[in-house]
Amino acid sequence: MNPKSEEARNRDENPFEGMVIASSESLDNLEGRSACPRCGKSRMYFCYTCYVPVSLIAGKIPECKLPIKVDIIKHRREIDGKSTSAHAAVLAPNDVTVYTYPDVPEYPQDGKTVLLFPGAEARTVQELFTGKDNAPSYSDLLLAELPSGYNVGTLMTKVLKHQDINEIQHAHKFPIDRVVLIDSTWNQSRGIYADERLQKIPTIVLQRRASQFWRHQKGSPRWYLSTIEALHQLLLELHICAWGRSEQYKSFLTVYSPVHKDNNHPQCQPYIGQYDNLLYFFKFMYEKLHKLYKHESLLAYTRPMT
Ligand SMILES: [Zn+2]
Repeated sequence: MNPKSEEARNRDENPFEGMVIASSESLDNLEGRSACPRCGKSRMYFCYTCYVPVSLIAGKIPECKLPIKVDIIKHRREIDGKSTSAHAAVLAPNDVTVYTYPDVPEYPQDGKTVLLFPGAEARTVQELFTGKDNAPSYSDLLLAELPSGYNVGTLMTKVLKHQDINEIQHAHKFPIDRVVLIDSTWNQSRGIYADERLQKIPTIVLQRRASQFWRHQKGSPRWYLSTIEALHQLLLELHICAWGRSEQYKSFLTVYSPVHKDNNHPQCQPYIGQYDNLLYFFKFMYEKLHKLYKHESLLAYTRPMT
């Protein structure tokens, strides 16, 4: 047996610890499927082809305001009901658009649109702000100190030395205004990435974070994130590079009620969970599944990180 590190165990036992995610009460109260208000098909929580919630929970789920526009390019063979890109489109309807490949927009080549893809030329989010820099940096440190639910930057913590966070200058603006994500299996995404319209877009990569997705792909490493996890991680990294993380983060959480609908967080302040509700359905479904099965018996979570 390979004993897990304390850090990994804590991460897997409390995968959403410290995140500000609204109560799932309205989802718990649903008694069965109902008709999609647009297409009329029978759906449980939301319609994964129209990207709207079922009428019984409309107005009762959080709405996320994102600081950049998000385009998700879906492989046409990706099974709609299994993909998490619908989570993003339902929870952030004003900022997320889903396209089905080969329907891809022409993107301006102004450096403001980036593609999330781990190509050889890909830059980290930190590098979008500072240019090339391979050294672990203050944003890594800030990410590593987030509550364990975020489980980001954990691979970096060992090499980081403490530095004076107060000395850090944040950019206070975002270097990009649009991100393109490919939602497909690992092999399909390479095919989509080969499209010349996407080849022209600069690529970025995320820090490694362990996926909590229960529908893992055969042979994919544990850090191969579902689309909604990747989007959340990207926004978190961007936000922390631009605005930092609230020093009062933990005490803030204790007085803050996560049951809120207006989601009027100012975007221009340190990270206090502004985008955590993107994981609203993800957390709900994760917890539902884990009530039925023991975590360690789910194959998805025993994959190695590398
Ligand atoms: Zn529908």
